[in-house]
Amino acid sequence: MAQRQFQTEVSRLLHLIIHSLYSNREVFLRELVSNASDALDKLKYLSVADDAYKSISFDPRIDISFDKNAKTLAVSDNGIGMSEQELADSLGTIARSGTKAFLEKLELDAKKNSNLIGQFGVGFYSAFMVADRIEVTSRKANEESAWKWSSDGKETYDIESAARDTQGTTVLLHLTEEGLEYANRWSIEDIIKRYSNYITFPIYLTFDEKEWDDKGNEKGSKTKTERINSGAALWRSPKAELKPENYNEFYKQLSHDKDEPLLYIHTKAEGSLQYITLLYIPRKAPFDMFHADYKPGVKLYVKHVFITDDDKELMPVWLRFVRGIVDSEDLPLNVSREIPQQNRILANIKNASVKKILSELKTISENDKEKWNVFVSEFNRPLKEGLYSDWENREAITGLVRFKSSAVDGWTSLAEYADRMKADQKYIYYISGSDEKTLKASPLLEAYRAKGIEVLIMHEEIDEIVVPQLGRYKQATGDASREWELKAVNRSGADEELGEKPDSKTESDSKPVIEKVKNALGERVKDVRLSRRLQDSPSCIVADENDPSLQMAQILKAMGQGDVPDAAPILELNPSHPLVSGLKDTEDALVIEDTADVLLDQALLVEGLKLKDPAGFVKRLNRLLSRK
Ligand code: ADP
Repeated sequence: MAQRQFQTEVSRLLHLIIHSLYSNREVFLRELVSNASDALDKLKYLSVADDAYKSISFDPRIDISFDKNAKTLAVSDNGIGMSEQELADSLGTIARSGTKAFLEKLELDAKKNSNLIGQFGVGFYSAFMVADRIEVTSRKANEESAWKWSSDGKETYDIESAARDTQGTTVLLHLTEEGLEYANRWSIEDIIKRYSNYITFPIYLTFDEKEWDDKGNEKGSKTKTERINSGAALWRSPKAELKPENYNEFYKQLSHDKDEPLLYIHTKAEGSLQYITLLYIPRKAPFDMFHADYKPGVKLYVKHVFITDDDKELMPVWLRFVRGIVDSEDLPLNVSREIPQQNRILANIKNASVKKILSELKTISENDKEKWNVFVSEFNRPLKEGLYSDWENREAITGLVRFKSSAVDGWTSLAEYADRMKADQKYIYYISGSDEKTLKASPLLEAYRAKGIEVLIMHEEIDEIVVPQLGRYKQATGDASREWELKAVNRSGADEELGEKPDSKTESDSKPVIEKVKNALGERVKDVRLSRRLQDSPSCIVADENDPSLQMAQILKAMGQGDVPDAAPILELNPSHPLVSGLKDTEDALVIEDTADVLLDQALLVEGLKLKDPAGFVKRLNRLLSRK
């Protein structure tokens, strides 16, 4: 017998599971059953698709049994099984990609997050919550020998040669005192019905039933085996027979989410392509939504047989939070994206699903405020990705994305903005940056506010990329349609609606000031101008019409694209501010230089940008303040 050491992460996980996650122990059974079901799926698939396995005829099933006296519980399947190497690889290391991330999150605050285990599902190892020793006996399909993996869930595990009549796996738990509560018929039935009812394979429970004679005396007991899951693939039932509870229960099992879904969409297509989709939008964004290696949430079935849960193409990336199943009648079981016709079928299903989801979201946005707000707060960002990655659906997505605004609390749509707009307003205005509060307080908004012009607040990083690409917004009104350009207020051209240009007297009065500031700042600015946008503040910066915004430049830098040239901003001055007008009569070079620098740096600061030389700024400010 060879004793082996667990991979470090497994030890950490086991320790955590055993010591901090007692609250939801029962999920161990769901995890073991779901592993068994996966193993059956795999073998069923191979027995149809792979010649090497075609000779295997098997009746897929999962069996659960327990022995109160021996304090054991066993979950057994006749699925694909594991070879010696696979036992070591799968049960000695962490197989699931999300588990590592889960682990890191959990360790931050193990106690508080104890119900995370339900959300993520940590698989096989969760059985150590109820067992102090586990034996896994497995025989791989098409192999002669069987192997037994065993461990007490501490540091090490053993693998030794074993015997098993057929292919498959038996997980035998030696229950702890706490685990003993699951060694009875009713607990097991209850847990299976709750978590695993729709597992498509039959799950049988073997138990002893007492027998009574006519007089009501116990005369012994009889061993019985009964099927305890319903097994019908829920999505194949007619809609009329399904209640919301059925959909919700199926969702929880499918997604390992403990919350109910926000909405579900069940579609049966019976035209030239035949398929069923059952898609869900969760109430909470999946934890890995912003990880590059996120796990796709939609599973592919073909004629009721599970094919894969790892096909990222079933949904567009921007809808990666969608959960559910796609079940096609037209594909072969050994479906391949390499074959154009099969790929086309999948693409068709995907396109139709996206359209369906978008139209459902539109309905919700119009009719169900509560649900819609949940959706926006969780999924507005990925939806915005759709604006630049999904041209075909751009119009529908544009109708759904939401922004903050200088005029209203909460979120607003472009349509609502357009409705509020004055009849002769030429552009839709927005300001972009990284922080909502900073943007709302920006001096750039002063004049727009004074004029009653609403400005959209684009505080999400993705806005910097999406909005310039979107460019325009078109609104159909009856037969006609109107269209507006989206204009950033921190751009040089965006001030034409703000009133008259400074008159020629102000212009000529300020000329020397402009010259002095320009000379003092040199290369740091592209130009210095009088502003029409400022009411109370002395200065602001804007980007030249065709330059990238400074915020965009900082994002590109942060993304490692360091070779973006710094586009110098245009500095705009408020001629009626004393700090600016005071420069007219000064010839003191140091004062001019200090003032010019402070005017620029404070304008950068209020836009939430980083100063290159904060110490210099403070020094100049202090020098100005202490000037007699
Ligand atoms: P996950 O199921 O998320 O991959 P687990 O820790 O539950 O994580 O299982 C690890 C791996 O062990 C599985 O991916 C699978 O390869 C293997 N495994 C577990 N149970 C079985 C089983 N009953 N039959 C075959 N393989 C299994």
